[in-house]
Amino acid sequence: MAKVYYNGDANEQYVQSKTVAIIGYGSQGHAHAQNLRDSGVNVIIGLRPGKSWEQAENDGFQVLPVREATRQADIVMILLPDEKQPSVYKNEIEPELEPGNALVFAHGFNIHFNQIVPPTDVDVFLVAPKGPGHLVRRTYVEGAGVPALIAVYQDVTGTAKETALAYAKAIGSARAGVLETTFKEETETDLFGEQAVLCGGLTSLVKAGFETLVEAGYQPEVAYFECLHELKLIVDLLYEGGLSWMRYSISDTAQWGDFISGPRVINASVKAEMKKVLEDIQTGKFAKGWILENQANRPEFNAINRRENEHLIEVVGRELRSMMPFVKAKQKDVVVSSAK
Ligand code: NDP
Ligand code: MG
Ligand code: MG
Repeated sequence: MAKVYYNGDANEQYVQSKTVAIIGYGSQGHAHAQNLRDSGVNVIIGLRPGKSWEQAENDGFQVLPVREATRQADIVMILLPDEKQPSVYKNEIEPELEPGNALVFAHGFNIHFNQIVPPTDVDVFLVAPKGPGHLVRRTYVEGAGVPALIAVYQDVTGTAKETALAYAKAIGSARAGVLETTFKEETETDLFGEQAVLCGGLTSLVKAGFETLVEAGYQPEVAYFECLHELKLIVDLLYEGGLSWMRYSISDTAQWGDFISGPRVINASVKAEMKKVLEDIQTGKFAKGWILENQANRPEFNAINRRENEHLIEVVGRELRSMMPFVKAKQKDVVVSSAK
């Protein structure tokens, strides 16, 4: 089992004597910045003029252009969208890094796949909370925290790990538990999880189930309830108590069907395909494709996004959710997106 670090294993001095620049003030940025400040750390925000800039100022922070914030900071935490990090890093961060500074990430993609090549005289590590920013903030305020991963890529000061632990403590994560990993492991498992299970695997499973029922002549509305809507109940149970708690809570008929039919649907050929997906991640093939797609201004991403939005399950779902005021209906208009 992995070693888990808690508050007692971390010394906040490693961040409290420093100035931390949080670059980006989105989901993660606003949470890290506010938690660090409440933990007594000197925080400044690096941004471009716009919505986030206004928000950070309203929240009482000193906001500066990225270049200026980097210049003033000892620790630079990059919380920009991953696709935007390389160019902002090259133009505005790298020129202002000083020997002994720390360059920090919440996801390993750009370092692991060489989209950012840091100078050899700075510490490079990651602190990745395992939850969205609003949860990182809310749990901190409640006196708890979201577990986090830390990893050290480059240690020139000899205290990179101590600084990572101190940072994790200051955002509340060491109250819950901090695990040490590597940039390679964090990046590859994160990509695999979202592709094979959490996002890709799940949406394809839901669509295949829905289509099977509709093609057999059942009403799309009923198929929507059975294959998508009811997922929330199941996922909540899994989250609370794993597979066994979920299985304990459903009917015995449902549990028997789970045992007998689950492995027929997610069978050996599906697992063999998962291994190929993992291989494409490990070899850099997936990363290369995504980087090139962004450089080409996302032609395939936008085409698939539009097509998916018109799928019957989406059309039916929009209608049914408007009948359920207890479901906080959220709609995302599909717009052409660009990495630039
Ligand atoms: P968001 O998309 O929520 O926020 C991005 C921020 O970057 C915004 O404040 C945006 O400001 C700013 N920004 C974008 N472009 C520029 C630019 N050119 N110059 C200056 N500022 C810019 O990002 P996330 O918080 O989701 O992700 C940040 C990092 O955290 C990523 O590495 C991600 O992988 C990682 N992470 C995310 C998690 C999550 O749940 N979201 C969980 C764990 C890790 P503006 O308003 O100007 O656009
Ligand atoms: Mg991810
Ligand atoms: Mg049922």
